[in-house]
Amino acid sequence: MTTVNNAWQAVWQRIESAAQAAGRPVTDISLLAVSKTVEAARIRHVAQLGQRAFGENYVQEALDKMADLADLALEWHFIGPVQRNKTVAIATHFDWVHSVDRFLVANRLSAARPRERGLLNVCIQVNLSGEATKSGVTAAELPDLVSAIKALPNLRLRGLMAIPRPEKTVAAQRAQFAAVRCERERLNRLGAEMDTLSMGMSADLESAIMEGATLVRVGSSLFGERIRAAAKESKE
Ligand SMILES: *Cc1c(COP(=O)(O)O)cnc(C)c1O
Repeated sequence: MTTVNNAWQAVWQRIESAAQAAGRPVTDISLLAVSKTVEAARIRHVAQLGQRAFGENYVQEALDKMADLADLALEWHFIGPVQRNKTVAIATHFDWVHSVDRFLVANRLSAARPRERGLLNVCIQVNLSGEATKSGVTAAELPDLVSAIKALPNLRLRGLMAIPRPEKTVAAQRAQFAAVRCERERLNRLGAEMDTLSMGMSADLESAIMEGATLVRVGSSLFGERIRAAAKESKE
């Protein structure tokens, strides 16, 4: 399993170089290991290297792995589209949800959060370029959703999450991440108190860190290309 070891170190190298280029302390940036379609044994290996936070997109797949890895103190982040019939399972078993994109879902997550688990950390998924095919909230919808979520008793609003469209140039990548950063600044001036920018993946984490990402979500650079992703997606 030295390849996973090397990959994990290589990703941290990239994070460190980008932080340095951005003039930011590397301690401001956390790595979410995106482990969708990755079997529990490989997650365990990365956990042994010191990785605590893992991101999953499919509820049933995640619950199976959580059971296999229950002896480890891991932090589980839900990053896939939230279906309303999955909100109880998500609120019960996850520590974070990055993909809240409407009040209905936030309300159900808050109602279902077991008291003994403390507040559920959430990010609002944004779609600032207005791509019709993408989930996510537009800039115009954000202020109302932020205040509505902040009023919910069992959620803690942590920040914004973005999956911008793939761009070929660093300048174009940075422009999209900069728009997310500006939204957080604008909303924080209105009292949102958000500390998280969840943005940047294998292909563009450097650009995201240049624009203030506090959490990068990395899958294929850590675990290799996903071959089963499409099959899984149609199953859920
Ligand atoms: C799969 C996924 C990632 C990781 O993407 P890679 O390109 O494999 O690093 C990050 N965020 C979300 C929401 C994902 O679904």
